[in-house]
Amino acid sequence: MPLSGIQIYKLLPQTNCRECGFPTCLAFAMKLAAKQAELSACPYVSEASKSQLAESAAPPMRLVTLKAAGGEVKVGNETVLFRHDKTFYNRPGLFLRVDDSLSAAEIQAKVAQAEAYKVAYVGMDLTLDGYAVTSTSGSPETFAVAVQAVRQSSRRPLLLDSRQPQVVAAGLQSLAGETPLICSADASNWEAMTSLAKQHPAALVVAAPTLDELADLTQKIKARGVEDLVLDPEAHTLGQWVSASTQLRRLALKKNFRPLGYPLIAFTGDDADPAREALFASQAVAKYAGFIVINHFTPASLYPLLVLRQNIYTDPQKPIQVQAGLYPVGDPKPGDPVLVTTNFSITYFSVANEIENAGRPAWLLVTDSEGMSVLTAWAAGKFDAARISKNFKEFGVADKVTSKRLVLPGHVAVISGELEEQLPGWEIRVGPREAVDIPAYMKQML
Ligand code: SF4
Repeated sequence: MPLSGIQIYKLLPQTNCRECGFPTCLAFAMKLAAKQAELSACPYVSEASKSQLAESAAPPMRLVTLKAAGGEVKVGNETVLFRHDKTFYNRPGLFLRVDDSLSAAEIQAKVAQAEAYKVAYVGMDLTLDGYAVTSTSGSPETFAVAVQAVRQSSRRPLLLDSRQPQVVAAGLQSLAGETPLICSADASNWEAMTSLAKQHPAALVVAAPTLDELADLTQKIKARGVEDLVLDPEAHTLGQWVSASTQLRRLALKKNFRPLGYPLIAFTGDDADPAREALFASQAVAKYAGFIVINHFTPASLYPLLVLRQNIYTDPQKPIQVQAGLYPVGDPKPGDPVLVTTNFSITYFSVANEIENAGRPAWLLVTDSEGMSVLTAWAAGKFDAARISKNFKEFGVADKVTSKRLVLPGHVAVISGELEEQLPGWEIRVGPREAVDIPAYMKQML
């Protein structure tokens, strides 16, 4: 059973020194009990207390990390059922399935195509995270060749998918120094799979059709020394997945039930229809997969999936921002105009894209509005004449631009007079309200 705040408090030094960032040891104890603080923040806990507190302080869901030369994938460590309660931390790893029934050349080509795919989204490149090599041949030699073929085209983390330990062992041979995910241990093979995961070492998927059987298996495997586990509730439909994943998340976070406190894996490609697979994968992003294995590589379904994942795993209390500054768009000269906007990234990219679409170079003054969009920032007092003028001077606009023409977003026309007073000698124009109207505005007015 987890310790209560008062029980934790009794194990702390009770000096109220504040070094943990909380005003009292009791406040820190309450945060520890709520899983909102790390025990390591207090440097004065005795070793005896530490061991007693370890169980209580551990996150309710284990963090599992896959490693390879081409990157890391971290999943788990989630603390809330709903994103709006706080945030989701570690976005699910998206893995593309590669079957060992394909030739080495076909595997290399498929992986190379997926490696080249990326979505440019508000200043980030969104990509797949790795590949799931599946054994349908049942042959260790064929599987080893398939793993090596993937490694010819990608260095991203891998999932080795076979319930035959000798097949998985063959695949692991070419992954020295990496931490892959091996899949899966079940009631019939768990001892051999556990030995493989421990020797390599690797993270291990545990599969069972019921929650009781899953919990039984994880406890037996953990007792053998393998703790980086991932749960496969063997859910093959939308209904089965949402039911299993919700129960597992509740048991882990609300009941602090350690045997099921691990990230989940969803195999969404069991449906032969790519559109239904995309639907299943979208649901798994929202509820509550740590890894998602997809069978179909189609940009039409991958694009929305990557963007959905990015949005769901963005902290709702921290808007995505770009750095404030003066940005050239389309190689502008000193005589070209300056448009002004805020540093909310979607606003920035919308405006910058529309200036590019206009085919007329311009300067874009991005003000520090704490990541808010134009109207929200204006209403919050973060996008007014004083702030624009301050950023105008800070970024040396007058030194770089001689046009002396500055265009405000139409939504904040009301501040144009005040800005004119703050920037004497500059002509303040009021542009369109919507970014989409910028090209027409620039052609007609500038
Ligand atoms: Fe108490 Fe430790 Fe925090 Fe100091 S750092 S206030 S001793 S919990």
